[in-house]
Amino acid sequence: MIRFDVLSIFPEMLHSPLEYSLLKKARDKGLIEIGLHNIRDWTEDKHNMTDDAPYGGGCGMVMKVEPVERALAAVKRKDIPGEVILLTPQGETFSQKIAGELARRQHLILVCGRYEGFDERIRQHLVSREISIGDYILTGGELSALVVIDAVSRLIPGVLGNDASVAAESFSRGLLEYPQYTRPAEYKGWGVPEVLVSGNHAQIERWQRAEALKRTWLRRPDLLEKADLSDEDKKILEKIRLHEI
Ligand code: SAM
Repeated sequence: MIRFDVLSIFPEMLHSPLEYSLLKKARDKGLIEIGLHNIRDWTEDKHNMTDDAPYGGGCGMVMKVEPVERALAAVKRKDIPGEVILLTPQGETFSQKIAGELARRQHLILVCGRYEGFDERIRQHLVSREISIGDYILTGGELSALVVIDAVSRLIPGVLGNDASVAAESFSRGLLEYPQYTRPAEYKGWGVPEVLVSGNHAQIERWQRAEALKRTWLRRPDLLEKADLSDEDKKILEKIRLHEI
């Protein structure tokens, strides 16, 4: 079981995406727990301010440190160790590997920014990790928090119908996934590779591995440099390079 607590000034943005499909089922089964909190609830001034103008000038507003610090103190748990993650375009880029690391934690607290970002002291004193979901700028951290929750949750045992699918899919073994087909075996003259309807499981497995290697070589050759390749994989890759398969 893993617990996520999200701190945001628009926590309602996360309600609906968490109410469908596998995440909803995982919550119902108690495999994941999610708390959504409004940082504004921890303001103490009469206007409930969560942002203020930056020192030194500049455009936009900056998220204030005090409400975030109080919110974190309130949601941190003494009984379970937690990791506090700041969603920011300046963080390490989120990946399947990081999702795997986070899936081994018991409690993740995700802090979503708005406006021009955070008072630097939040970064310096209150969080243990900073994550970006890619090299682009969003209006707020809520979508990023959802991306992290989704990718991490599906790695929790029991969340997917079939845990074996995690092992086969793209990035899990350092490669992109092989092409997939479903019925009908022929549609408008578009067929399915014969091996897949042959019933020969050993051949199917070899085909899938070769196709995963080929697809990765064509689309993401950078992944091959870090992938854990067997001698057999290397031979297959050589044939792919020589256009023999
Ligand atoms: N001025 C900030 C900067 O240049 O780093 C960007 C602020 S952005 C408009 C507002 C908030 O959206 C950020 O504080 C962060 O929480 C979230 N955000 C935007 N892009 C993101 C990304 N690529 N990954 C994660 N969070 C992001």
